[in-house]
Amino acid sequence: HSRAAAGNSGAKERTLIAVKPDGVQRRLVGHIVQRFEQKGFKLVGLKMLKAPEEVLSQHYHDLRKKPFYPLLLHYMSSGPVVIMVWEGHNVVSTSRKMVGDTNPAEAHPGTIRGDFSLHISRNVVHASDSLEGAQREIQLWFNRNELMDWDSCDQSNVSHV
Ligand code: GDP
Ligand code: MG
Repeated sequence: HSRAAAGNSGAKERTLIAVKPDGVQRRLVGHIVQRFEQKGFKLVGLKMLKAPEEVLSQHYHDLRKKPFYPLLLHYMSSGPVVIMVWEGHNVVSTSRKMVGDTNPAEAHPGTIRGDFSLHISRNVVHASDSLEGAQREIQLWFNRNELMDWDSCDQSNVSHV
């Protein structure tokens, strides 16, 4: 079906999660990784880098006309980021819930942004907002050979698919 044709079906769905420069500075990388591991998702890609301007401008292409866009790019390139790909059942929509509202003032306690941030310009983490967005972002940030296809031994305990 269409999801399978798009390369995403059931337990193989993937999303891009990034710890932004403020999250790295605040030593939140381990905590954020732990939240996704504990939820039952599988880490299939991870790297730390200084985000190139060219990649950031593609990543945030939809926001290029926004007044905050120049500051957003400046902030995202101000220090290293940790970029990850997580895989599992419904990972795109579930990870958006785990991350919380874009504006930390609206993000519920228990979400990453709700627990660790105050202001929209420093909201610690990025998560893809749709299946199509996830595929586009994964291709943008990762080469194929940087993504690990591996079987986790607890697979049947976290997902029946
Ligand atoms: P997200 O998908 O929840 O990250 O939100 P968006 O895709 O709408 O925006 C991308 C990022 O731009 C957000 O995570 C914020 O860091 C930043 N951003 C969005 N809206 C604003 C805003 O109104 N002001 C500022 N300063 N930053 C914003
Ligand atoms: Mg977004």
